[in-house]
Amino acid sequence: MTGQFTITGRHYASEGAVRITVKEGRIASVEPAGEAGKGLPWIAPGLVDLQINGYAGLDFNTLPLAVETVQQATRLLLAQGVTSYLPTIITNSPEAIEEAMKSIAAACEADRLTDSTIAGIHLEGPFISPEDGARGAHAKAYVRAPDWALFEQWQAASGNRIKVITISPEWPEATAFIERVARAGVIVSIGHTVASPEQIADAVRAGARMSTHLGNGAQLMLPRHPNFLWEQLSQDDMWGCFIADGFHLPDSFLKTGFRAKAGKALLVSDAVSLAGMPPGEYDLHIGGKVLLSPEGRLCVAENPKLLAGSAQLLPWGIAHLARKGLCTIAEAWEMSSLIPGALLGLSSAAGLTEGAPADLVLYSWDGSELKITDVYKNGSLV
Ligand SMILES: [Zn+2]
Repeated sequence: MTGQFTITGRHYASEGAVRITVKEGRIASVEPAGEAGKGLPWIAPGLVDLQINGYAGLDFNTLPLAVETVQQATRLLLAQGVTSYLPTIITNSPEAIEEAMKSIAAACEADRLTDSTIAGIHLEGPFISPEDGARGAHAKAYVRAPDWALFEQWQAASGNRIKVITISPEWPEATAFIERVARAGVIVSIGHTVASPEQIADAVRAGARMSTHLGNGAQLMLPRHPNFLWEQLSQDDMWGCFIADGFHLPDSFLKTGFRAKAGKALLVSDAVSLAGMPPGEYDLHIGGKVLLSPEGRLCVAENPKLLAGSAQLLPWGIAHLARKGLCTIAEAWEMSSLIPGALLGLSSAAGLTEGAPADLVLYSWDGSELKITDVYKNGSLV
């Protein structure tokens, strides 16, 4: 990465042609490149996904988790424009969670590209709601009350890589747990919950800063108000993650959620291992039989009302939002790159500016389809 080179493209936000000089893995300069923007690829900061369970048949939650599985998934995700992500480990036995943490740590230690792309681990569970609906596809047998000693054990196994933990504040142990985890510098996110509005507010006071896939991982029926959705939407200190694949949330909820969370709304894919796979019926290690429709929707086979995670990555969500006019491509792109990057404290959150890491994505967009063409991670073409 010692070489210097330039990339010319249309700036995703200003829409003008720019020439980006990359030197030693970083952006050395961004200069206007004349009027001839048409015909050039769009250029944008790399995508940052806080929630990925697997991709292309590779599953972070199927044990044993081989180091090669993590490394291969990372390369395939990079090719789709994801230059930073949090592999997501969901509710399981304490031993299984520890094993998954160790595998991801080993994958990072063995390979620089994997290490630089995995910005941390998202532990989703097991301290979530045991209630049906709220629990989603998480295994009830392993759901449990928040437990600091267990968390410490997993954090040690991961080599301090757990950056986000999703919990439900409905447990009496939640407040003390959230305080300790937040003090340790880990983002506490609320999700898979039946917590009361008061419990949500207490959790925020204790240090919870994020909502995991807001509007999903919830019971099918809720009192109209008050409920935990309104409370999370109205908490200005909470960042909100949204799955914008077009199946998880109606457009009206997305639009309203983005406005309520102005500047703190971000997209996650929540992609499961079947993302990138052909339609059909599959048997998931966790979650049982699932159906992937030709339209790209993934649901539990025996109850199609229940989604089983997403089969789409962030570019799909960005295209969905732009097609539906819910925001511009530039806004959707920033909700999928700079905003989650800022929440995680990544240097790539500086975007297309001098000194930022050259995590760059070139893409085409015809008003309907978004295609990733080239991806650079720290200035190296993937
Ligand atoms: Zn979830």
